Amino acid sequence: MKVISSIRTVQNILISLRNKRKTIGLVPTMGAFHEGHLALMRTAKQECDFVVVSLFVNPLQFGPSEDFNRYPRDLARDRTLAKSTGVDLLWTPDAHDIVPPDLATSVDVARVTDRWEGAVRPGHFRGVATIVAKLFQIIKPDIAYFGQKDYQQTVVIRQLIRDLHFDLKMRVMPTVRETDGLAMSSRNQFLSPEGRAAATVLYRALQHAQQLVKKGERHCHYLQKEVESLIKKEPVAKIDYVAFCHPETLEPVDQILGKTVLLMAVKIGSVRLIDNVIVGR
Ligand code: AMP
Repeated sequence: MKVISSIRTVQNILISLRNKRKTIGLVPTMGAFHEGHLALMRTAKQECDFVVVSLFVNPLQFGPSEDFNRYPRDLARDRTLAKSTGVDLLWTPDAHDIVPPDLATSVDVARVTDRWEGAVRPGHFRGVATIVAKLFQIIKPDIAYFGQKDYQQTVVIRQLIRDLHFDLKMRVMPTVRETDGLAMSSRNQFLSPEGRAAATVLYRALQHAQQLVKKGERHCHYLQKEVESLIKKEPVAKIDYVAFCHPETLEPVDQILGKTVLLMAVKIGSVRLIDNVIVGR
């Protein structure tokens, strides 16, 4: 596995691969790899001839009061893990190449960013969309891989791909969970032992909703109250939002009439966790 920072060097490698008709997979990440990341890499390796993993802690997607400086960074560990999945190139661009001080262009995806993470974290999706557009532009992958864990992000990126005519396929892989159901996340390491135990409440709440819907419950107001009261039983849990939404527009729905996404963001102490599940069909 090659580890390269230079944009130009990476592009030259990719040009020669494309000339040989090799397919290129891209897995955008911010590092601190866990099984969720590794699952994306393994799938990419199965489906593409050459897999690029970008590792870039994107300063633009963090708000002023968020954890950019605290974000976990361990290149030696990430390198070993990426290599173990068969990734061909770990691309670690320098911040000043991707976000130079005179950067004047940004990408704003409207509507699907209005609510949920977009409302709680102003500017977050502008930061994500701007950098993902740059990664697509630089790597020009045939397939790009994302996790369902960040559901709203997948909706935003799908819109970005369509609106800017990026000629690539997007693959969304299922959320990888710990054995007790907690969605893997680099932020889980900030949980205290008590917080770690309490954090399973997100998955328990998602499952509860899924079971109620399976039994025939269709009223989102009732479902939401059920989910919220389950979460509130954990004293350290503070709900940011719990919402049943249309899977593509992310607008809230009143009834489960078809495929619906249940989105939630819950603070466990100072650690903010998000999770989601698809209910209905
Ligand atoms: P991040 O490094 O947090 O920006 O995540 C990089 C990619 O991994 C994103 O597409 C995430 O949605 C995805 N990802 C993060 N956690 C998980 C998980 N538990 N299961 C599946 N994919 C994940």
